[in-house]
Amino acid sequence: MSAPLPTANATLAERAKAALMDTYQRQPLGLRHGSGARVTTTDGREMLDLVAGIAVNVLGHNHPALRAAIADQAARLIHTSNLYYTEPQLELAELLIASAFPSRVFFCNSGAEANEGAIKLARKWGKAHRDGADVIICAQGAFHGRTLGALAATANRRYREPFEPLPRGFVHVPYNDIGALETAIDSTTCAVMLEPIEGESGVLPLEPGRLAAIRSLCDERDILLILDEVQTGMGRTGRWWAHQHEEAAPDVMTVAKGLGGGVPIGAILAAPRADVFEPGDHGSTFGGGPLACAAAVAVMRTIADEDLVRHAAEIGDYLAESLSALGERGAPIAGVRGRGLMLGVALSEDVAPKVAAAALDAGLIINAVGARTLRIVPPLVITRDDVDEAVQRLSTAFAAVERAEEQA
Ligand SMILES: *Cc1c(COP(=O)(O)O)cnc(C)c1O
Repeated sequence: MSAPLPTANATLAERAKAALMDTYQRQPLGLRHGSGARVTTTDGREMLDLVAGIAVNVLGHNHPALRAAIADQAARLIHTSNLYYTEPQLELAELLIASAFPSRVFFCNSGAEANEGAIKLARKWGKAHRDGADVIICAQGAFHGRTLGALAATANRRYREPFEPLPRGFVHVPYNDIGALETAIDSTTCAVMLEPIEGESGVLPLEPGRLAAIRSLCDERDILLILDEVQTGMGRTGRWWAHQHEEAAPDVMTVAKGLGGGVPIGAILAAPRADVFEPGDHGSTFGGGPLACAAAVAVMRTIADEDLVRHAAEIGDYLAESLSALGERGAPIAGVRGRGLMLGVALSEDVAPKVAAAALDAGLIINAVGARTLRIVPPLVITRDDVDEAVQRLSTAFAAVERAEEQA
């Protein structure tokens, strides 16, 4: 510790500039504690949280069941490695399978890592079952994470280019274009990899019927369907998994974000057809550790006990209607996309970052994706009162932006 310690009155932003790599555009906000869909800032303001740690805090903040599960498991075992069995890991795998489709599970620690594993599965499957086919078809607008393999699957140039060369074997087709997808499939293709709703590029859903059609296409052409449900999963869209809206189960599904309710954990589910890993093929020191698995078990059980999947569907509809009504009352809202509690508010002007900033002043945490979209991915426990208040605060933010634009 040769460098001087920061002075006590240095701001959080100053300390971050000196001590943290410059990877995030942070909002000027320090968060200290939370409860339900509300958080309190380091300067003592109460905020409504429609971001939920980017679709992570599905039970909201400080849920007693999650807190208790973590404390309880911490008092037993925190980490064991995967050289031994633990009950929380097995219980979580069984719960995941019961919520999804007949499959087995591999545990890891994040969304990107889950997608890396899915890519490895697809390549191994292609080598064994499709004459060495190793190309994965992905969608334009897709986001699959920041590691090199996940980046190769991600289309966005801005994320990719500084880090090239990336692994080869990925092609990108327009997201909702079945014709383009069909044309792209050839003898080198082992899998199609998609998000049921593209999250990071602005909550863009597949059109109704598309997923079922893609499922049929993958069957016809004998390739795997990998669904990245990292953001769409855990009940957020009003079903446990977004693909269940169309009964189009994938061969491989990746999960993370909400699974641990804030404790890092990811998972890959593979149907028997795609379940090709053998001992030594893949692994993770931390993956599926008892602390994270006990947290995730509590999350899944609480979602079931509190009927939060249905709640997400109902309160999501109410939120979408309230937002549309705000547009009808004059806010620059062109439309509301998405499903359940995964919503994108399309704006009619390029003001999304300004609205998100003004929302902070109005006591609302909301996320701008690009110039024209606000993303709303709140905790599944959000109440009607929370929604009413959030929409009120958003209305205040729109008005503030409008006033500022008029003065400019
Ligand atoms: C967030 C996200 C990821 C990456 O997850 P990390 O845990 O940040 O690695 C991958 N896919 C989708 C769809 C995501 O939303």
